[in-house]
Formats: sequence, C-alpha cells, structure tokens
Amino acid sequence: MFDKGTAKQEALRYQGFGGSKTWHMRLTFDKLPGGCNLHRCKLCGKIVTHIRNHYHVHFPGRFECPLCRATYTRSDNLRTHCKFKHPRFNPDTRKFEAAPSITNETTTD
Ligand SMILES: [Zn+2]
Ligand SMILES: [Zn+2]
Repeated sequence: MFDKGTAKQEALRYQGFGGSKTWHMRLTFDKLPGGCNLHRCKLCGKIVTHIRNHYHVHFPGRFECPLCRATYTRSDNLRTHCKFKHPRFNPDTRKFEAAPSITNETTTD
C-alpha cells in the first residue's frame, strides 16, 4: 500500500528535475551536508560548488553561455558569441574583464 504511494511520489519528484541533463548532473554529484552548496564529483572526487561548471570537465561538447544560456558545440563558437554579445565577458575565465579605463578619446562613428 505504502510502496505504491512512495513510487508515485518518486516518479513525480524525478519529473520535477525538469530535464534529463539536470537529472544526469545530479547523478554525477553528491550533495554534501552542511548547507554550503558543496558537491562531490563522483567521477573524480573533487569537491565543487558549481556542478554545472564542473560537469563540463567530464562531459565536454556543449558550451553554454552563462549569461544568456546560448549553447554551442565548440568553445570557439561560444567565444565568438561572447565577443559580440558580451564584449567584457571572458568565457575562458568566466569572469568579466576589468572595464577598460574609459577616457575621453571617443571614437567618432
Ligand atoms: Zn569531476
Ligand atoms: Zn551569451
């Protein structure tokens, strides 16, 4: 009796993950207790905070722009995307470049 209900709840819970990729990500990592958002990678044992970032270490082939979620199959395509869409974002370091000191030499356009 109880088993049936539990199974149904589990199924609902899995659907709640909202996508096989997210589901796969959760399988790859163990959430560590403590509420610090730490996860241990089951593949290499590394403790990471951003499972999405670390996921790509093991499953390359899909490069996602962290700013607008555009996806590319090649890193250089993503780099090109960032160059045009987010000029100050460096996809290699995943950081924003320090704003170039804007002087008064405005380019006439
Ligand atoms: Zn790993
Ligand atoms: Zn983007």
